[in-house]
Amino acid sequence: MSDSLFADASRRLERALKYVSLSEDTIERLKYPKSSLIVSIPVRMDDGSLRIFQGYRVRYDDTRGPTKGGVRYHPKVSLDEVQSLAFWMTFKCAVLNLPFGGAKGGITLNPKELSKLELERLSRGYVDAIADFIGPDVDIPAPDVYTNPMIMGWMMDQYNIIKRQLSPSVVTGKPVTIGGSLGRETATATGAFFVIQTLLPKFKRIPSETTVAVQGFGNAGAELAELLWKAGYKVVAVSDSQGGIYAKQGLDIPSIRRLKDANKGIKDIYCEGSVCSNIIEHEILTNEQLLALDVDLLIPAALENQITEANVNDIKAKFVFEVANGPIDSAADLILETRGIQVIPDILVNAGGVTVSYFEWVQNRCGLYWTLEEVNQRLQHKMVEETEAIWKKSEELSVCMRTAAYVYGLHRLGAAMNAKGTRDYYVNG
Ligand code: NAD
Repeated sequence: MSDSLFADASRRLERALKYVSLSEDTIERLKYPKSSLIVSIPVRMDDGSLRIFQGYRVRYDDTRGPTKGGVRYHPKVSLDEVQSLAFWMTFKCAVLNLPFGGAKGGITLNPKELSKLELERLSRGYVDAIADFIGPDVDIPAPDVYTNPMIMGWMMDQYNIIKRQLSPSVVTGKPVTIGGSLGRETATATGAFFVIQTLLPKFKRIPSETTVAVQGFGNAGAELAELLWKAGYKVVAVSDSQGGIYAKQGLDIPSIRRLKDANKGIKDIYCEGSVCSNIIEHEILTNEQLLALDVDLLIPAALENQITEANVNDIKAKFVFEVANGPIDSAADLILETRGIQVIPDILVNAGGVTVSYFEWVQNRCGLYWTLEEVNQRLQHKMVEETEAIWKKSEELSVCMRTAAYVYGLHRLGAAMNAKGTRDYYVNG
């Protein structure tokens, strides 16, 4: 087990380096974030008191373009976590061939304890603190855990006030009415759905005979559960931070979403009217129990480090699709591989979010807006193309999908770094 999340994240890079020939300069540069900012954000609370929050923004690497990455509001946000997420974003953008580098941001807090007005003051204060670090051609924030389109709208507005100009492309994931892209809110789940659909035939499976458990019923997890349910998969378990529910014969996902949206936790939903009438037998589960279910597809869609050496031997799923960033640590990853459980990595599976963020940035910059159909067609094209390429690379090198994805991303990052000049070029002419 590693001493930090970032040290653990870097191990994935070390594994992949064996399969690529990169200049020493490139390898050295990829070990360190380009710049990290820690800020204090003073916020006037509703009762008149002043609270200071700690915020972060890390730009990991910008060789392939302006840096891009979400902003997380969570009590466990730390510099270590933000650096790791920025590192993953660098590879994700390279894997999807988006003209971006990787970044991430966050504020350490429990957002559920703040009123809406306090959240607005905090979000605007965060932008005040990082305004010189971001910009449409420098670094572009987006939503992540416990941030949403409304918060992105406040952030864009605050940046525009500071700069005295309208720059919608400084932030993505905004409300559609102020420059957001159609399809952005559902993009992470839609992208993950395309990855699953592309790989399912290769695993010789069909939806109606495939059982699924989803950990984390938020923006990404709930939407993906519904897409899978609509496509005929049997979604037998879902959970949120309070716990989960399980029904052997499959859950009625749209009803669960409706009730969850009415501000109930997952485990409080049963037995509330419509859902219970559809499903006779169900069980309340803890998150640990959900992870240990004997299902075909396990989909962690909450937070990092959910599967570690402590519980990896309990995992019975045949395939794990990482919708969350970093849900499996590197030690558990190796054990899953030796046990023959295939893991499809975060830097591919959840890349639909940043891909449609890229589409939003393009639309903002050219002032021409696409229909939902156009957005989803372009997303499908990208996700299927890169999934096929990584699958091919994993077969060619006989490595797992994670290593194949890193190798693939490293080729693109290495080529970009070489194009800017390396030691070989300067020393050997
Ligand atoms: P969200 O805030 O909308 O949802 C998170 C969900 O996880 C909530 O339902 C919450 O109750 C649940 N949760 C929190 N702690 C949990 C725990 N210990 N066990 C089970 N459930 C728990 O966040 P999101 O945007 O859906 O992001 C989820 C994951 O997907 C994160 O790892 C995020 O980095 C990743 N991701 C999100 C996007 C995006 O566009 N939203 C893009 C790429 C990756």
